[in-house]
Amino acid sequence: MDTGLSGFIKKLPLERRLVTAVDEIAQDVFVLRIDRKHDFLPGQVVGVSLSHDIAARLYSICSGKEEPELSILFNIKPDGILSGQLAKLKKGDPILVSRPFGAFLGDEKPAWWIASGTGVAPYRAMLRSGLGKDKVLIHGGRKADSFYFQEEMLPLLGNTYIRCCSQETAEGLYPGRLTNWVREQTLPSGYQFYLCGSAEMVVEVRDILIGKGVELDQIMAEIYF
Ligand SMILES: Cc1cc2nc3c(=O)[nH]c(=O)nc-3n(C[C@H](O)[C@H](O)[C@H](O)COP(=O)(O)OP(=O)(O)OC[C@H]3O[C@@H](n4cnc5c(N)ncnc54)[C@H](O)[C@@H]3O)c2cc1C
Repeated sequence: MDTGLSGFIKKLPLERRLVTAVDEIAQDVFVLRIDRKHDFLPGQVVGVSLSHDIAARLYSICSGKEEPELSILFNIKPDGILSGQLAKLKKGDPILVSRPFGAFLGDEKPAWWIASGTGVAPYRAMLRSGLGKDKVLIHGGRKADSFYFQEEMLPLLGNTYIRCCSQETAEGLYPGRLTNWVREQTLPSGYQFYLCGSAEMVVEVRDILIGKGVELDQIMAEIYF
């Protein structure tokens, strides 16, 4: 019997929608857009599949809540079943998508938005939905081209946009893992801490924050698995 999240995902009702665009924005990293039918809250996810025989995978919405299309950001997982197929979709192709859901929600309070890899997606939705005030975005990636959406993040966030690059160096990038950057900081008081991306990053950063005196209820986490 399927219990917990996987059972819930398998039972997610999926609706047929149409792809409006698929753009490769970095090597093996894509933004997929579909026509939007439902309202959502910035930070929520949708279940996506291409057939009722393939269990839906979850993707954070990365578009703003007033935009006519709904976008997701994804990378191709080696040997993954769905992500490679999503990358081959073309405008006009059908796709199965659930209603938006989830409790990783942005709000007006001051916050650090911490992401690894494609985990930056929900913060783009929050930013494009008008929640960028008093936010610090800390994004970790391996290569200099890992900072998806940096062209739109930089003018909006300025010096509250920290890009931590673990395998390459370039002007404007912190040279090292985002966990090192967080460890070096004196944390501001009165802030929430959002963590989104790999389980490894989320667990490590959560432990660093707790070690620096952050309370558990100030930490919101979304783990991509
Ligand atoms: C809340 C949430 C939000 C998410 N948001 C995003 C997002 O915004 N963007 C994003 O890119 N991803 C996101 N993810 C991850 C996403 O849902 C998928 O897991 C991911 O895209 C992989 O899908 P896939 O079908 O290509 O790979 P899968 O087929 O699910 O495989 C994933 C990995 O597991 C391995 N694998 C598969 N089957 C087996 C097996 N039987 N034994 C051992 N290994 C196996 C594969 O080799 C592959 O490397 C999110 C996940 C969650 C839970």
